[in-house]
Formats: sequence, structure tokens, C-alpha cells
Amino acid sequence: MLSVAEKSARRFAKETPLGRTRRARKIHRILAEVYPNARCELDFETPFQLLVATVLSAQTTDIRVNSVTPGLFAAFPDAESLAHARIEDVEQLIRSTGFYRSKAKNIVRLAGELVERFGGEVPASQKDLVSLPGTGVKTANVVLGNAFDIPGLTVDTHLGRLSRRMGFTTHEDPAKVEADVVALFPKKDLTLLSHRMIFHGRRICHSRRPACGACPIAKLCPSFGIGELDPVKAEKMLRFEMAPKAEVEPEAAASKAEATAPEAGRTSQPGPAPREGRA
Ligand code: SF4
Repeated sequence: MLSVAEKSARRFAKETPLGRTRRARKIHRILAEVYPNARCELDFETPFQLLVATVLSAQTTDIRVNSVTPGLFAAFPDAESLAHARIEDVEQLIRSTGFYRSKAKNIVRLAGELVERFGGEVPASQKDLVSLPGTGVKTANVVLGNAFDIPGLTVDTHLGRLSRRMGFTTHEDPAKVEADVVALFPKKDLTLLSHRMIFHGRRICHSRRPACGACPIAKLCPSFGIGELDPVKAEKMLRFEMAPKAEVEPEAAASKAEATAPEAGRTSQPGPAPREGRA
């Protein structure tokens, strides 16, 4: 007898490209209703602050980054001041984000290049952004989409995992995931789609055990059944503002759980040294 997950996969096995596009857009409409406030969860006021915060978010949570950036930007409010900062001073200010020595060097170098090559301003083009130290396509798209309103897809660990589970792609390589997912949606939707998918990954479609029994897109998902199916148990697995009231985890505990999970809440780039940040 087939399991629920096998039946779900079978239901969509012969889906046409048009059917996939329609289903993908329907999923997006549902996510838009479920997460009306989905946004970049990094706090920032300027493109420079968002760029630095995104670089700092490698291998840690947005909550952790948001706890250090007010102090960092009070001391070094722009590229010019950060470019001339003492590395040791920056290290102390960002220590709790992990990998603080290399992150401090990276953001001071990044600020230096912004000053030397772009007059201290963050460039609004992907080509220029990816030429900066520690800035890859993912970080560039976060900055373009959220600081400059230029739509783009942020393929972080959540978006990659959910896109595979939802049958939007079969690839692991972020560039191939991006190409497959971008083909399914209007370009103008890509930034908000990224936020909504990331919100869904953090709250319901967890990396290790998704809460399928409490998932609003269950009927449209070829992976329905790979996680918890019991609605009562699944409800208890929801996180952040969706967690059952009596069992809301303290923010710090949620943050810690996310930071220590092997995949959830981290960048898609494992390894000892932090690389590109995430949304
Ligand atoms: S929680 Fe389950 S049903 Fe919902 S998107 Fe994830 S795998 Fe699919």
C-alpha cells in the first residue's frame, strides 16, 4: 500500500509545464494570504546597512544580526567610517554573530571597495554588487529587491528546499533552482515570493520535519506526507507568530534552535568560513 507521501508524489507526476505554472502561482497566492507581512527580516535603513547586515547573516539568524547592527551602525554609520574602522573594534561589535574575525575583515574590506570604486554608495546593479568582496548573487538579490525595489529571487536554504518539495525544481544548485523558479512567476513577484517562501520554511515547512498536517498548501504539494500529518501534532510544530499561544517559544530559544539546526536558518553554503549572507 502506498504511503501518503507516495500518493502525493504520484498525483503530480504527470503534471504539464502549464499545470505546474498554474499550481505554483496558486501556491504563491495562498502564501500571500497566510503571510501578509512577509518581508526582509533584517533591520536596515539604507542600502549600505542592508548589504552589511546580509553579509553578517551568513551562518547565523536574522534575529542575531539585528541584535548587533544597531551598535555597529551607531559606531560606523556609512561606508566611509567603516572603511577606516579598526578591525578589533568591529570584531567586538559583531562578536555574537559567529565567525566574527573573518566577518569583520570582510565588511571593512567591502566598505573600502564601496568608497574606492563607488563613491561610498551601494551600486544598484547585480554586476557591480557581485564584484564586491563577500557578495554573491544571493546577497545581491536581497539588496536589489529590498533596498532598490528591483525584483529578484533569493535562493537561500529555505527557498531551495521548498522549491524542491513543491516540485518547482529538482536541482540543488542555487543557480539552477533560480532559473527553474523564475520561469514560473512574473518577474515583479520575485522579491515577495522569496520572502513568503522563506517565511513558510521558517514557520511550517521545516527542514527536518515539516508540519504537513497544518500546511495551507497541502493539497497543492507533491511532498505532502513527508512530515507530520496529525493536525494536532502538526499545529504544535508551528513557529514564531504561528506557534500555539500557550507554547510560544521565547524568541531567543527559537533563534537558538534555528541557529543550531543543521539546515534551517542557515545559508545554503556549508563550511567553516562564512560566505555569502542570506535574507
Ligand atoms: S509542510 Fe508539507 S505539505 Fe506543506 S509545503 Fe512543506 S512538504 Fe508540502
